[in-house]
Amino acid sequence: MDYVIVGNGIVANTIAFRLTRKITPQDTLTIIGRTARPGSATLAAGAMLNSFAEIDAHSLQSDTDLYHFELSHLATRMWPTFERELIDAAGEYLPSGCAKCEIQSGGGCFGLGTYIINNTAADDSDDNNFDAIVTALKNFNEQFDFVNPRDIPNYFPAQKSRATRALYIHNEGWLNPRLVMEKLDAILTNHPRVKVRDATAERFFKSGSRVSTVQLDSGEMIEGDIFLLACGASVSKVLVKSMLEIDVQPVFYGTGVSLEIMSEEFPHRNCVRTPNRGGACGIYSVPYFWDPGTNNNHILIGASNFISPTPVNFGRLGSIEHLMKSAIEEINGNFYKAELIRTNVGWRPTTQDTFPLLGKTSIDNFIIASGTKRDGFHLSPVISDYITRILLNEPVDERFKCFAPERPLIRSLSREAAVEIIVSGLMSEQYQHGYLPSNIRMNAQVRETYRQDIEKLHDRIGATDWGIPPEMVNMYRNGHAH
Ligand SMILES: Cc1cc2nc3c(=O)[nH]c(=O)nc-3n(C[C@H](O)[C@H](O)[C@H](O)COP(=O)(O)OP(=O)(O)OC[C@H]3O[C@@H](n4cnc5c(N)ncnc54)[C@H](O)[C@@H]3O)c2cc1C
Repeated sequence: MDYVIVGNGIVANTIAFRLTRKITPQDTLTIIGRTARPGSATLAAGAMLNSFAEIDAHSLQSDTDLYHFELSHLATRMWPTFERELIDAAGEYLPSGCAKCEIQSGGGCFGLGTYIINNTAADDSDDNNFDAIVTALKNFNEQFDFVNPRDIPNYFPAQKSRATRALYIHNEGWLNPRLVMEKLDAILTNHPRVKVRDATAERFFKSGSRVSTVQLDSGEMIEGDIFLLACGASVSKVLVKSMLEIDVQPVFYGTGVSLEIMSEEFPHRNCVRTPNRGGACGIYSVPYFWDPGTNNNHILIGASNFISPTPVNFGRLGSIEHLMKSAIEEINGNFYKAELIRTNVGWRPTTQDTFPLLGKTSIDNFIIASGTKRDGFHLSPVISDYITRILLNEPVDERFKCFAPERPLIRSLSREAAVEIIVSGLMSEQYQHGYLPSNIRMNAQVRETYRQDIEKLHDRIGATDWGIPPEMVNMYRNGHAH
């Protein structure tokens, strides 16, 4: 078989990796993607391996939500072994930073332990989301401790933004995504059955009922037997050009900015983060280790989120300013003298219904893996396992079909719930940006104005018995989602 994978982010490359473990010497695997990885969400990620830390007051309500969480929880448990597998597979090609890996002794570019802080920098949605995390940790019997915020290493917030509660989740950790990608590149470029093409895929062509070729930007045609489309937020662009007559919901560009800083005296060993805020991930700092031999004082600060139907290549000054200010005020005042090493901009692949697109299409040899939004890095050991089995026609959990690319939109929110969540998210956003109502009545008035606006939007698009996913408000408002 000749397998062709379009895309070279964490999703495509972990699938390619798993495929190399299973293909026969007669098979080939071609991976198409620019070496520079334009718009790569993977290279902008933390990458935090969070599942409980991502829960908010409205999570885990539907069967699909619960199944998604089950996969996320499974991914947390898979990462240590998966990372070990990557190191072993890279062998003599292991990047120098990874060659001295201390994974087994708890050091190196992988670590466990996430602190969740509940502070007063935004509004009481943070309290509700913090409570929801605690409830889920208890219900699922996950190891955690309440901690005194003052005992969190390298946590020095501004007085007005200090946390009143905090907890520590033992098994949720982090990785440096750039090192993981270096390792995957080393494995794949040196594999005898793999061809890596530094190119962009323009469109697919069908022959009869099957996809037969993909055209590169150079005009070259690549033939294959089985095709996987896994190019992150750009999958819709390729699908539209390809005119394959399959009905796949749009994937939008969830532009996210993160900042790599060097903070000499305040290296981190754990993630420190707020709960989710207003449909985004709040503010966080993640250790950003390069190798065990260096002074590991690099930290990643994240992250903003701006959803758009077209790619955005650069971070907005407003997003960058907000990240810097929030990190200094809410996590460590000493970051004011940290050095800014790099500004990352990545496109989170965000579907219209906000659930991932994973699996076979109605074209038998055409598979899609995208739409992972905020946790595709973390989920990649699980996604790569399941998609590889699908590529090889092996059985997978039947429930995974709920993410089939041509599914009808999953509408897991009622209109009432959506309006409430969206209004709360907008209020939280205002508070994060310094909103100060003159009195309690003004607050009620602002809330009511938002509520009326969101109700009207639901009426206008005919959402009488379903709710708009909070991230998608502007896409519906501006006619990009229907
Ligand atoms: C700021 C930020 C922080 C994040 N933090 C986390 C986190 O802490 N934990 C977590 O789990 N997730 C996090 N995420 C989300 C995570 O990064 C994504 O879910 C995941 O990386 C998506 O992987 P992907 O391979 O689908 O897409 P990408 O990483 O975007 O990869 C797609 C690749 O395909 C290439 N490509 C595009 N078009 C074509 C084409 N036509 N032909 C060939 N190649 C093409 C692109 O150049 C790119 O290299 C974060 C994202 C951002 C932006």
